[in-house]
Amino acid sequence: MSVGDIDIPVLIVGGGGCGLSSSIFLSNFGVRHLLIERHASTSFLPKAHYLNQRTMEIYRQHGVAEAIYKVGAPIERFGQIRWMTSLGGDGPLDRKEIHRMDAFGGYSLRERYEADSPVIATNYPQLRLEPLLRREAETRGPDSIRYHHEMLDWEQTDAGVTATVLDRDTEETFTVRARYLVAADGGKTVGPRLGVDMVGPTNMVDMVSTHFTADLSEYWDDNTLITWFLNPEGESSWGAGAMVQMGPTWGRRSEEWVVHFAFRPDDPERFNEEAIVPRLRELLRLPDLPLQVHKVSHWILDRIVADRWRIGDIFLAGDAAHRQPPTTGLGLNTGIQDAHNLTWKLAHVLSCSATDALLDTYESERKPVSTDGADWALMAFGNHTVIDAGIGLVPGAPLEANTAAFHALFSDGMLGDALRARARETINTQRFEFQAHDVELGFHYRQGAVIDDGSVAPSRSDTGTVYTPTTRPGHRLPHAWLGKDEARVSTHDLVEEEGAFALVTGTDGGPWAVAARAASEKLGVAINVAQIGVDYLDTDNTWSAVGQIEADGAVLVRPDNYVAWRSQNGDEDPEHSLTSALATILGRG
Ligand SMILES: Cc1cc2nc3c(=O)[nH]c(=O)nc-3n(C[C@H](O)[C@H](O)[C@H](O)COP(=O)(O)OP(=O)(O)OC[C@H]3O[C@@H](n4cnc5c(N)ncnc54)[C@H](O)[C@@H]3O)c2cc1C
Repeated sequence: MSVGDIDIPVLIVGGGGCGLSSSIFLSNFGVRHLLIERHASTSFLPKAHYLNQRTMEIYRQHGVAEAIYKVGAPIERFGQIRWMTSLGGDGPLDRKEIHRMDAFGGYSLRERYEADSPVIATNYPQLRLEPLLRREAETRGPDSIRYHHEMLDWEQTDAGVTATVLDRDTEETFTVRARYLVAADGGKTVGPRLGVDMVGPTNMVDMVSTHFTADLSEYWDDNTLITWFLNPEGESSWGAGAMVQMGPTWGRRSEEWVVHFAFRPDDPERFNEEAIVPRLRELLRLPDLPLQVHKVSHWILDRIVADRWRIGDIFLAGDAAHRQPPTTGLGLNTGIQDAHNLTWKLAHVLSCSATDALLDTYESERKPVSTDGADWALMAFGNHTVIDAGIGLVPGAPLEANTAAFHALFSDGMLGDALRARARETINTQRFEFQAHDVELGFHYRQGAVIDDGSVAPSRSDTGTVYTPTTRPGHRLPHAWLGKDEARVSTHDLVEEEGAFALVTGTDGGPWAVAARAASEKLGVAINVAQIGVDYLDTDNTWSAVGQIEADGAVLVRPDNYVAWRSQNGDEDPEHSLTSALATILGRG
C-alpha cells in the first residue's frame, strides 16, 4: 500500500556517520532532503572512534565540533600508543612496556599539529558519535530524518531517482522522487545492485571486536588510547590483540573497552564467543577480572574502492565507495570527507549556480584520494608484522623459541640493549599510522573543480608525517589565524557554513575585491572577500608564510576550503580572470 509520496531534491540512504554528516551539511546549505535508515536506531557497535584534524575542521565549519569536543577524549587522554606484553600478571615477561609513541597530534606532536589547523583531533566512538550526529541532523532538519525506513527498490528516470521506501513501523510503503540520491548505505544495497565493482583485495582478515565494561584503572594510564599486546603466545600483534579505551570517561577510569583480535576468515574458532572472555582474561593476564561483555562483532577486512562513484544521479559515499583496514583511522574520516566534498556541489547545482558537470568532479576528486588512503591503511596494517619481526617474533616458530626471543629482549647486557634498540626503531616505523599528519591534511585533488596554475605540488613526506601547507590549486587552504575586529578567525572561517566561496588577497588586492563583487553578481554566487593587511590582520605573520601570493595576488577558495584557483600576482583584467575561473569551477565555463 502506498501513502504520502514525497518529492525532494536529495534522498540519503543510510543513517551512519556518512549519511548523518551529509544531512547536517545539506541542512546548513539550505538543501531540502530526506535521510532514511533501515535500523530503528543508530549503531550499537563501537566501530570507528578517531576523528582526525581534517574531519574536526569540517565539523567546526558546520557547527558540530563543539558538541563533539564536549564529550570526546581530550588529546592528553588519548595522545599516546603503547606496546606491552600484558596489563597484569607477575611472570618474568608480564607487564612489560616494550615501547610508547606519541600519536594523533598529542604530546611532542602538539605544537606542530596546532600550527597547521584551527582544531585538534579527538576520539569518540561511533556508537556515541552517531546519536550525537543524529541529534544535530534532526535539529537542523526536523522532518528530514527517518529511522526504521528502508529503501526497497529504485529506478532512475530523466528526472532523477524514484525510490520505494518501506516504513518498518507501519509496514507501509511510499515513493520518494529525488533529483539526486546519496548512497551512504555502507555498500549494503545500492552499489551491489548497480553492478559497481569494488576493486582490490578482500576478505583478508576477520576482525573480532569485543566491547566490554571493566575497571582497569589500576592497569591503564591517563594518556594511552591503544595498547598493542605482544607476547610469545600471540605469534603476531594482530593475533595477540589490540585494546582501545572507549570512554565515556577518558583515561585510566574509562568504563568501556574494545579488544580487537584478528582471525583468518577460514578459522572456525572466530565464531566461538564462549572462548572470547577466557581469551581476553588470558591476554590481559587478569584471570579474575570482572567484566561485562556488551557485544562481540565481526568485521571482514578489505581494501576495496568502487570503480564508479557516480552512476547517473546516484552518488556512492563512505563505506559504499571504499572499505579499508582500520589502521590510520581513515574509514569513517574519509566517509565524512566524501560527504563534505559532495554536498556543497549538490547545493550549488540544485540552486542552479552550477551545472551538473560540477557533480562529475566528486568522483574525479574523491576516488584517487580514497584509493591512496586505502593503500596507506593497508600498508600501515601490514607494517604491524614488521613490528612483530622487529621484536623477534617468528610466526609458526615453537613457543619456546618465541619465549626465548622475549627473554632476550628484556635481558641485561649488550645483546638486550641491541634488541631493545631494534624494537624501538622498528616500532617507530608505525608513525605511518599514528603520526600520519600529511596523510590526514596533505591530500589534494589533481583533477576536478580546480584550475591548475602550472605550479608543482610540494613533495609529500615519505613517512606521511610532515605536512607542507600550500595555496596551490587543488590543495586544502592552509590555516592561519587572522585578526578581525578584536577577534581571532582562521582562514578556514572565511567560507562560513552556508556554502560561500572566499577570495583571499593582500594589501594591494583592491582590484580583486572589486572583481569579486562583479563575479558574484554575474554568477549569482556568494564570495566572501578577505583583504589581508586591510580588513583582516596577519597578526602572527602565518599567512605571509603560507599564502604564497604577492600583495596583489589572490586565492579563490571553494566552500569546502580547497583552493580552486589562484593568481600569485595582480592581473590586467581581474574581473575577467576571476569570473571565468569561477564559471569554469562551476561547470559554466
Ligand atoms: C564491527 C565494525 C567495527 C569497525 N571498527 C572500526 C574501527 O575500529 N576503526 C575504523 O576506522 N573503522 C571501523 N569500522 C568501519 C567504520 O565503522 C566505517 O568506515 C563507517 O561506519 C562507515 O560509515 P558509513 O556511514 O559510510 O556506513 P555505515 O556505518 O555502514 O552506515 C550505512 C547505513 O546504511 C544503512 N542502510 C543500508 N542499506 C539501506 C537501505 N536499503 N535502506 C536504508 N538504510 C540502509 C545501514 O543500515 C547502515 O546503518 C568498523 C566497522 C564495523 C562493521
